[in-house]
Amino acid sequence: MSRRPLIAGNWKMYKTGPEAVETATTLARLCSNVQDVEVMIAPSFLSLPLVAESIKGTNINLGAQNLYFEKQGAFTGEVSADMIKAAGAKYVIIGHSERRQYFGETDTSVCKKIKAAIEVGLKPILCIGESDTQRDDEKTFSVLDKQVSNGLKGYGSDELAQLVLAYEPVWAIGTGKTASIDQVRQVHLYLRSLLEKLFSKDLADQTRILYGGSVKPENAKDLMGIEDVDGALVGGASLDADKFINIIKYNN
Ligand code: PEP
Repeated sequence: MSRRPLIAGNWKMYKTGPEAVETATTLARLCSNVQDVEVMIAPSFLSLPLVAESIKGTNINLGAQNLYFEKQGAFTGEVSADMIKAAGAKYVIIGHSERRQYFGETDTSVCKKIKAAIEVGLKPILCIGESDTQRDDEKTFSVLDKQVSNGLKGYGSDELAQLVLAYEPVWAIGTGKTASIDQVRQVHLYLRSLLEKLFSKDLADQTRILYGGSVKPENAKDLMGIEDVDGALVGGASLDADKFINIIKYNN
């Protein structure tokens, strides 16, 4: 099955509204002839409506970096799936390692967030990945198994039709260290077979599995060339449109 690659930029807590609009506008211009890959950018919540307006009619999609799973209510400081959808987003990143590490995100809250996203028609990008100690202790596959099984507990293949999985080894995020081609190949193959075991062959075949962790213009082509890698989740290198476009156009 052919899966259209997704190159997604996670802007984390960078860029004010005007700065986000400026980068998004430049990127949209640079992407005008991009057809073979889907592009997504995830600015801060505050910038979502502004960026939505600036990329209207272009081939760039909008995503959020998180959501809160309740529909509405007295949850000071939180943002619901409905609000994100109404702001113009199509995707939402869920369970990023920085959220797990600094904000107490667990597989249980991740699971609820996936549900909230699916209910409003947002495409969830579920982030999973092992730490360096877990890798050293040869626990990579058991950690990933747990994150996927628990994060997606209770769902059927139909509900997960829009799911995107992002394998992001924690030790490779923002560190400049990239997983080796062999490490990425092994994990992506494992994740696809895990999806088949837990859900169905159809879901395993259709789900895009992204790699994330210090993706740069210099390594994008090699990483994207690996079987079972269907795109990238890019942090640092997505903040600069001129750099990011060279990842998006990894094939050129
Ligand atoms: C990320 O934030 O998801 C990420 C992969 O960051 P970086 O590309 O900077 O390693």
